[in-house]
Amino acid sequence: MISDLPFGYILFAAFVFGLIIGSFLNVCIHRLPLSQSISAPRSRCPHCMATISWYDNIPLVSYVILRGRCRSCKAWISLRYPLVELLSGIFAVATVLRFGLTASGLGCYMLVCALIVVTFIDLDYQIIPDVITLPGVLAGFGFSFVMVDVSWKASLLGILAGGGSLLAVAWGYQFLTGKDGMGGGDIKLMAMLGAFLGPLGILFTLMAGALTGSVIGVALMIFRKEDGKMAVPFGPFLAIGAILYIFFGPPLVYWYLGLFSPPGA
Ligand SMILES: [Zn+2]
Repeated sequence: MISDLPFGYILFAAFVFGLIIGSFLNVCIHRLPLSQSISAPRSRCPHCMATISWYDNIPLVSYVILRGRCRSCKAWISLRYPLVELLSGIFAVATVLRFGLTASGLGCYMLVCALIVVTFIDLDYQIIPDVITLPGVLAGFGFSFVMVDVSWKASLLGILAGGGSLLAVAWGYQFLTGKDGMGGGDIKLMAMLGAFLGPLGILFTLMAGALTGSVIGVALMIFRKEDGKMAVPFGPFLAIGAILYIFFGPPLVYWYLGLFSPPGA
């Protein structure tokens, strides 16, 4: 049995598994916005188009051995590649620590992977691809039948609350300012988060996302003196909010509620 192995081995295996998944996430981040296939052809250097051989495509290791440069043309390889692999590896370990080897863990790790892809695509292109969020809504609802924390009713409610709340915000913003503020991609992202996390998770994600978004948004406005027109994508902040909820949600919620309970209660 895999669960009979020493815990350290399981964590190490999870890390390696996460690195390999991270390598696939990099392909998704690079190819999905360009509407290219994620299964074929083999990866190429974006500068010289040389096909990357398997030994130069080992997650994290190859980047270190090549010292961050393409073997044939010596162009710098984006730091995003090892960063995504490392993030994916760390979250795989964190998932095992938080959930063990359970269906809930698998569901949450899949969600985290989707959020990594969404975040980096949204940062580059200010879009959130439907090919991730729409199947994600279905996957979240499907997982609610095997996950312990979220029932299928909570999942349905989460889809409505997630999609509906942002739709209301978008309509309100449009009504007040006459401009499009929030993209449809954000709404579908929230519906996916709702499917996985339920209504409480949605509430937490919106609050944590708005909080980190406004802190970083204000910092950007102060340090980047550009004229008012700024496109700060909201997707990455929703992703941060959701990931905080997955790994720290219940303790944070109880701490927050505890702030309002009478002393000694
Ligand atoms: Zn090259």
